[in-house]
Amino acid sequence: MLNGFIPAKLEALQFDNSFVNNLPGDTDVSNNRRQVYEACYSKVQPTPVSGPKLLAYSPEVARLLDLDDVACNSRLFTEVFAGNTVLPDMSPFAMCYGGHQFGNWAGQLGDGRAINLGEVINTRGDRWVLQLKGAGPTQYSRRADGLAVLRSSVREFLCSEAMHHLGIPTTRALSLITTGEQVLRDILYDGHPGMEPGAVVCRVSPSFLRFGNFELFASRNDTQTLQTLINYTLATDFPHLDASAPDAVPQMFAEICERTAHLIDHWMRVGFVHGVMNTDNMSTSGLTIDYGPYGWLEPYDVTWTPNTTDFQGRRYSYGNQPHIGLWNLTQLANAFHSITGEAARLQEILNNSYRRVFLTSWQNTMAGKLGLRSFNTSTDDDLVNELLDILSSAETDMTIFFRNLADVSPADAPGTGLHQLPSELADAYYQPEAINRKYLQRLQNWLNLYRRRLQADNLDKRERKSRMNRINPKYVLRNYMAQLAIDKAEDGDPSLIHELHDLLRHPYDEQPEREKYFQKRPEWARHKVGCSMLS
Ligand code: AMP
Ligand code: MG
Repeated sequence: MLNGFIPAKLEALQFDNSFVNNLPGDTDVSNNRRQVYEACYSKVQPTPVSGPKLLAYSPEVARLLDLDDVACNSRLFTEVFAGNTVLPDMSPFAMCYGGHQFGNWAGQLGDGRAINLGEVINTRGDRWVLQLKGAGPTQYSRRADGLAVLRSSVREFLCSEAMHHLGIPTTRALSLITTGEQVLRDILYDGHPGMEPGAVVCRVSPSFLRFGNFELFASRNDTQTLQTLINYTLATDFPHLDASAPDAVPQMFAEICERTAHLIDHWMRVGFVHGVMNTDNMSTSGLTIDYGPYGWLEPYDVTWTPNTTDFQGRRYSYGNQPHIGLWNLTQLANAFHSITGEAARLQEILNNSYRRVFLTSWQNTMAGKLGLRSFNTSTDDDLVNELLDILSSAETDMTIFFRNLADVSPADAPGTGLHQLPSELADAYYQPEAINRKYLQRLQNWLNLYRRRLQADNLDKRERKSRMNRINPKYVLRNYMAQLAIDKAEDGDPSLIHELHDLLRHPYDEQPEREKYFQKRPEWARHKVGCSMLS
């Protein structure tokens, strides 16, 4: 077999359930909703469903588990990842965690609609946790049903894979299965519930630990369980750190800060807005986790959020994400403080390993997006700020603008009076008729500045374009695209899920036959539920 890949049957998967084997669990074995103390998890079984049907799977994720296409198309695969069959070596559980939601401490939350099946060790020795989302109620379901609908499951499946192929750290998605059952949902939380098809996604990640796992024990002054969880995390997720070093916790915190800084820089690079950056949705491994009302910027607008429940405060808007990263890390620092007692050290880490790392990372990203060799503060701060201001002042599609910027030639003589939008960039504008002379003059001035900067850099034209095309994606999962795939899937046809899944495998490549996906959001999607409004 290629690259030592040995296709395994599901029955042959090797499980090493370190989370339940090494951490304290809930002693009450019933599946009643309740507060759970001094425990990191509760054991719980997925709820079987009546008519599971595999809509899509990700062969790349299957390979991480050493599973081939035959295994994925087996009946057992559908049964296992719908939650109907639990393999003998699996040990299903729901995690106990808390979180700050929209800036307020929310107390215990936990896996209310997620059930971890176990941890697979593949033939390369990598650990992968398997988690079903939407497989029925757990001890942490509070007043909700523990289920997921097809709409949100399609969005999670497609987006986690799209993010991976964009080179952005994320949890992965193995499978998307409809349950054959109907679920009651109030899509906009406005008192108009309706039935929707149920679905289950199997997520796969090296770790599903969140900031909130640590915050919960700190909030309860349960330093013993907190310390046990920290020791486990050091051993499992940060094995390269010396867990016995006196500053192991600050070191781990510094790494979480750096990973979060890079993660949010990536989000900003591609225009991704997570939508619900509560601390229970922040991964201590620096992964994008919990795909809910996320979205991609279409018109560049730092105040934009896809989340209708956040329209008032816009706490989780695109431009606020770096700041919220810091706010969330500060909550995690508070939790670690109860163990380390070193406020000044933690503060210094926030400054150096988050703020500074984010700034440098973002500067490099912007230099890359503009096709510059490197970021030169003395010239490029102004260059970038002026561009972002220009982009905000007329409805400009972020993805199209940056992708097409690679076609602006440094050789063109500086212009004086643009009479119309430059042909390379015109496709990015939503309302070209609204462009006035003042705007054109400003754009002209910026282009003159930009061309001079490129000339000074003296990078080969083709080399610059190929560098830019590796950082400015051509294809992203625009909300309306996901919605079209959902509408079709709800009518029984999953083909668009497959097409988008495939398109987004190569987001930086030209795919001439799929040029229709490199277009501004159509006007019909401007105010449509699911396309511009999500909750
Ligand atoms: P989220 O906003 O999706 O991160 O969810 C916040 C909390 O609510 C987490 O503890 C979830 O597990 C829980 N939750 C969300 N939706 C459901 C649901 N349908 N059933 C049970 N718990 C849920
Ligand atoms: Mg969540």
